[in-house]
Amino acid sequence: MDTKVDDDTRRAAIEHQVRCMLDQDADGSHELYHDDAVLEFRGDRSPSSGSTSRSRGRRRSGVRAGAAPRTPSDRARSLRPMSATDDLIANNGAFVDGFDLADLARAPASKVAVVACMDARLDLFGALGLRPGDAHVLRNAGGVVTDDTIRSVTISQRLLGTEEVILVHHTDCGMLGLDDDEFHTGIEADVGQRPPWSSDGFADLEGSVRRSIERIRTSPFIPHTDHVRGFVYDVQTGALREVT
Ligand SMILES: [Zn+2]
Repeated sequence: MDTKVDDDTRRAAIEHQVRCMLDQDADGSHELYHDDAVLEFRGDRSPSSGSTSRSRGRRRSGVRAGAAPRTPSDRARSLRPMSATDDLIANNGAFVDGFDLADLARAPASKVAVVACMDARLDLFGALGLRPGDAHVLRNAGGVVTDDTIRSVTISQRLLGTEEVILVHHTDCGMLGLDDDEFHTGIEADVGQRPPWSSDGFADLEGSVRRSIERIRTSPFIPHTDHVRGFVYDVQTGALREVT
């Protein structure tokens, strides 16, 4: 990636954002302030939240200490600090400049669908040598096979020609040891209703992989179930270990 172009793009986006913030400031003071709810949502309020130096820098630039309480309508008009999303969207310009994927076919070239955990550390393209256009990649919390996974694999096979499924769970998964009942009870205490879905936490990593393989193999809607294999990705080494 061209780092200079990337930096220029980010700087231009930040300058644009600051101009918009100044233009929108309703009280005309041209001071910048933050929205408590946004910072709270982003977890930037705690020094131990692990926010990056970049996001801490953004926060400093967007905060006016002692800003007066604001009504909901004020808040709707209020200035927003640069978010991580803004940072990422700013990268799109450089991506478009180098874009060369327009000729890819819709159907995955490898005829494989990968079902994997959403964990941010899993580099599935690197681990499997995939390139854009090669495979469907379905990700969720745990990489478990849910009704929605069955829906996507069914569409992947029946409409888009895939014939094999690779399941990828991983070491140190956040779903390992999650107690559904306790988690849902906490949500119910917080919002007054219990989630209608299963969170699919698990105590046994290999057992969860086997259960997911079985859900694919026994689904009446999925036509190709001869090549369904499950693996554990080691987040320390990147190695895939097959679960049999
Ligand atoms: Zn995980």
